[in-house]
Amino acid sequence: MVTQSETASAVLEKEEIKSTSVPTVKNYINGSFVQSSSTNLLDITDPSNGMTIAKLPLSTKDEFDDAVRIAKDAFPGWRKTPPLERARYFFKLKTIMEDRFDDIARVLTIENGKTFDEARGSVRRAIENVEVAAGIPTLMQGYSLEDVASGIDTTVFRQPIGVFAAITPFNFPAMVPMWFLPYAVATGNTFILKPSEQVPLTQNFIFELMDEIGLPPGVINLVHGDKVVVDAICTHPDIAGVSFVGSSPVAQHVYSLASQNGKRVQALGGAKNFVVVMDDADIDAAADAIVASCFGCAGERCLAASMLLGDEKIYDVLRDKIVEKTSNIKLGSGLDEGVTMGPVVSSQHRDKVLSYIEKGLEEGAEMLLDGRNATVEGKEDGYFLGPTIFDNVDASQTIAKEEIFGPVLSMRKVSNLDDAIEQISMHPLANTISIFTKSGANARKFRYNVDASMIGVNIGVPAPMSFFPFGGAKGSFFGDLKAHGRDSIEFYTNKKVVTSRW
Ligand code: NAD
Repeated sequence: MVTQSETASAVLEKEEIKSTSVPTVKNYINGSFVQSSSTNLLDITDPSNGMTIAKLPLSTKDEFDDAVRIAKDAFPGWRKTPPLERARYFFKLKTIMEDRFDDIARVLTIENGKTFDEARGSVRRAIENVEVAAGIPTLMQGYSLEDVASGIDTTVFRQPIGVFAAITPFNFPAMVPMWFLPYAVATGNTFILKPSEQVPLTQNFIFELMDEIGLPPGVINLVHGDKVVVDAICTHPDIAGVSFVGSSPVAQHVYSLASQNGKRVQALGGAKNFVVVMDDADIDAAADAIVASCFGCAGERCLAASMLLGDEKIYDVLRDKIVEKTSNIKLGSGLDEGVTMGPVVSSQHRDKVLSYIEKGLEEGAEMLLDGRNATVEGKEDGYFLGPTIFDNVDASQTIAKEEIFGPVLSMRKVSNLDDAIEQISMHPLANTISIFTKSGANARKFRYNVDASMIGVNIGVPAPMSFFPFGGAKGSFFGDLKAHGRDSIEFYTNKKVVTSRW
């Protein structure tokens, strides 16, 4: 039963917030929204104008421990619920999320900054995971074989394991938690979500909707917080497994700490995504795709193109087209008509991106487009940055080495495909990589040799759909089983192998 304290709903009434007190975000534990007792409060701001829209208490370790106890108590009953019955909750959830589709997207835009269209796209991806998880009676089946020895049969059952938790980043507050929750719960586990403390409202709103589907209390729980809760997740003896999405240093920390504590872990980290354009590519289509990939969601996307390697034979034409198309981007508040790029998430993040741009200049990259002083009329306190493009970016420069996670594209020439593949292989991160070419042989050579595990051929953002695995390689991923798809069923279940003779 939801009460009108639920801040995400309140944020939809934005005008009201201006005139009344700012709401305080609650946790959702044991089937109810509850106020954290923490006095450590974080301001949640609307990045388009810098206004505080909510206060977030950073939950204590004791509050997290309570949530684990409740989720653990809910597990025995939930695991016995027949899979088809579990699936029906997700059919209901899909219907409710479709009914409130634009409202979810609006909360997301208000707290994260991405445009309303981008927010809607990510809500669609979130719902697709709910749809796939509703197939659990089929997905979760085991397998069997008669007469493994004379008169002996073997059957594999998949069983849920217990309490799982997920820790998620700021950039896709609706979609990324849904890479985990539907699969963990549909397979019969109970679940605790710790969303990014920068964007707590979208999941509060989705939990308001989930409250309506009537899951037994304790099956899903939402605990807001920071490192205190993250480290408690990684060390609590009753947490069976942890899914993490965020930057590589934190992914590595979560992977080490949680696996040292005997948990299953999948930790998706940061990215530095290369895109290669060959001399035989459709240059115009490639330029469109690269601009959308790099500057969509203000570059705050783990699949955003950030380092462009162009074949020297078409490089100048490609570069000019990219600069021209990028110049058409319209910066503004994500809810305003015609805006194609919103602000970045926070003033701290804007400063971090700005410091990378300064570093690029200091280290000798050639600036083709300068986004540093971009402003939006009437939104002077928003966290806006225009698109920035650097040419002749050498592999040794900081902006070529480190993830910027903002609207900055770096580019340089390569002499041929082998040169591009070699340069890509030297980078420690490998989330996604794309090639633009009309040659099947080039495309095959590329996908066969590059390290990343999400590859695009003539696609700027090659995001695997929810029925395929999502996750990178090298320093972009820690663990073995990726997010969603069949991997997810593996991650959330234990295989029990029964060998019988009667
Ligand atoms: P982040 O690593 O700062 O935070 C992610 C989560 O970790 C948050 O819930 C946060 O509370 C927690 N956290 C932050 N610092 C911590 C610390 N020191 N100890 C313990 N927990 C900590 O990431 P972000 O800034 O929210 O998100 C952007 C990053 O996420 C980028 O690096 C991006 O590439 C990555 N990302 C990766 C994927 C992927 O699929 N690989 C998808 C989305 C985002």
